[in-house]
Amino acid sequence: MTDIPEDHPRYFSLVTRELLVKGVKDGIASMQGLIAQGRGEAFDYLLGERTTASAMQAERVAVALMLLAERPVISVNGNAAALVAEEVCELSHVLNAPVEVNLFHRTEERVARIVSLLKSKGCRVVYGDRPDRLIPGISHERAKATSMGIYGADVVLVPLEDGDRCEALVKMGKKVIAIDLNPLSRTARAATVTIVDNVVRAVPNMVAMAKEMKGMPARELSDAVKGFSNDRALAQALEEMMENVMKARRNV
Ligand code: ATP
Ligand code: MG
Repeated sequence: MTDIPEDHPRYFSLVTRELLVKGVKDGIASMQGLIAQGRGEAFDYLLGERTTASAMQAERVAVALMLLAERPVISVNGNAAALVAEEVCELSHVLNAPVEVNLFHRTEERVARIVSLLKSKGCRVVYGDRPDRLIPGISHERAKATSMGIYGADVVLVPLEDGDRCEALVKMGKKVIAIDLNPLSRTARAATVTIVDNVVRAVPNMVAMAKEMKGMPARELSDAVKGFSNDRALAQALEEMMENVMKARRNV
């Protein structure tokens, strides 16, 4: 990887890019994934590249939902694998939720690579290389799922999911938690809980919260979820973004 000086003002953003480029070279992420990251970065810039109060709240609600779930599952795509494989495995372990590899541009080779990457990072149960079901309402390759994984799950965490797959999962009656920096995307609007934050911040935050909340009684977890409205959370995220932009505007 290119050496990036730690005092560079865009250090974290540049390191993230390097990780994704390495992910493409290693056959983990796709070229299209680089473009998706670019769209995310633009929204992150507007947000001020921080976890906002509304994102923190959504992360807490998401962790509570996963802890309350009967069959929670974490979906992993190429970008998530390139950026946060280790953290996803830690989250999977703390939440006792298996992982399933799901790729928009699916090739069996890339699925196999991501499965072995996740296993090397400590994930115990990884589905995705032997799909046995199809998610209704989407085209064949992208519909592939596993009965023991996403297909049979009641709560699914999808860091970086496509809009119509997210909608299809919601239509199946699942609670869908999305991580998406764009509060206007179809994914963000379709999900049950949307975390408007960068996966590189959101997943580690969720690991810390999961460790802290794991021992809570179910009643307290339900209280944490009660009253959450995704529409309101998205509106808050947009306001936080606009406040940050207005702050910058005053300094121009
Ligand atoms: P939709 O179909 O939901 O309207 P889209 O298909 O236009 O969205 P894509 O370009 O397919 O979106 O996927 C990129 C999405 O993922 C963008 O919304 C972007 O904000 C988000 N994204 C990209 N990188 C990250 C990241 N590191 N953390 C969080 N979100 C990200
Ligand atoms: Mg899309």
